[in-house]
Amino acid sequence: MSKRDFYDVLGVTKGASSDEIKKAYRRKAKELHPDRNAGNPDAESQFKEANEAYEVLKDAEKKAAYDRFGHAAFEGGMGGGRGGRPGQGFGGGDFSSAFSDVFDDLFGDFMGGQRGGGGRRPARGADLRYNLRVTMEDAYSGLQKTINVPTAVACSACDGNGSEGGSEPTTCPTCSGMGKVRAQQGFFTVERTCPTCSGLGQIIKNPCKVCGGQGRVEKDRALNVNIPAGVETGTRIRLAGEGEAGMRGGPPGDLYIFVEVQAHDLFERDGTNLYCRVPVSMAKAALGGAIEVPTIDGGRGRVQIPSGSQSGRQMRLRGKGMPALRGGGTGDMFIELAVETPVNLTSRQKELLREFEELGEDNNPESNSFFSSVKSFWDGMKG
Ligand SMILES: [Zn+2]
Ligand SMILES: [Zn+2]
Repeated sequence: MSKRDFYDVLGVTKGASSDEIKKAYRRKAKELHPDRNAGNPDAESQFKEANEAYEVLKDAEKKAAYDRFGHAAFEGGMGGGRGGRPGQGFGGGDFSSAFSDVFDDLFGDFMGGQRGGGGRRPARGADLRYNLRVTMEDAYSGLQKTINVPTAVACSACDGNGSEGGSEPTTCPTCSGMGKVRAQQGFFTVERTCPTCSGLGQIIKNPCKVCGGQGRVEKDRALNVNIPAGVETGTRIRLAGEGEAGMRGGPPGDLYIFVEVQAHDLFERDGTNLYCRVPVSMAKAALGGAIEVPTIDGGRGRVQIPSGSQSGRQMRLRGKGMPALRGGGTGDMFIELAVETPVNLTSRQKELLREFEELGEDNNPESNSFFSSVKSFWDGMKG
């Protein structure tokens, strides 16, 4: 009788989540618990078996090792796989303490192998980042731009395979093309990235003189990129496959364009809305009237100012903001009035303003409740 599959023991499928595994184990443990099955040796051995299975499957690292190697992952040179000793070996607490160090070693290697693109796949090229500054107007309209990216491209002399004169890379003799070698380490067989070929599975006897066998060379690439309307500072545009070429014909990385939108002299931006302060003469603010304001599209917008507008009043120009990056319309433009006090008055203007002031005091004292309350405050002080 061979050792049962841990997933079968708990009655779950291989893709079961950790929650499902935990539930299945609890069910089994209740069912088979020695307290409820006194004198039943079958239940006892099944209980131990379930414990053993759960010890492994509840632990992400052990589970990964088990998925990869099966029971062999945990069996030393003890004639593993045979029955007749249920629950022995590594049941219970001994297991984790005695084996954890070994696992750390094992997993260090697995991860390293995967990161380095082990196996037979040549290494993927690096991703590249390109910082692009654009004006607010460009962000509004979107733009086409040619950028120069220093990168690595496939070597044209060897077609990217790294071998000189049309010769082909040959299968690595150390690992027979597997990219990995197995070594005995104590009880365990440990798989490592092949040191001869660095996991590529192939070696180059006659390296290309242009790229030194790398299969790629440094080069500036001119790329035509399309920056969509609505980009913001922090927008990332990914150009798949436009990063560095991979080693020896490996797949290329991606190019990421990081957008920075420059501050604008006139407009402040918040999402799709634009804000700007517009100076208005004191007379216009008091009497009302139309003003023209510049808009981000390069045109002009007309806003009607109601009579008696105070500084700080906000007006809205609908649809004159920034476009949303992923569709969904355009924002608005908000105009904040900044009422200007006139300076450098002519004597005629001064005369008119004095007349205006006298009229204001005598005939219209209630026109502004704030000033009238200030006035009565001072009158009270004098009295
Ligand atoms: Zn090799
Ligand atoms: Zn080459």
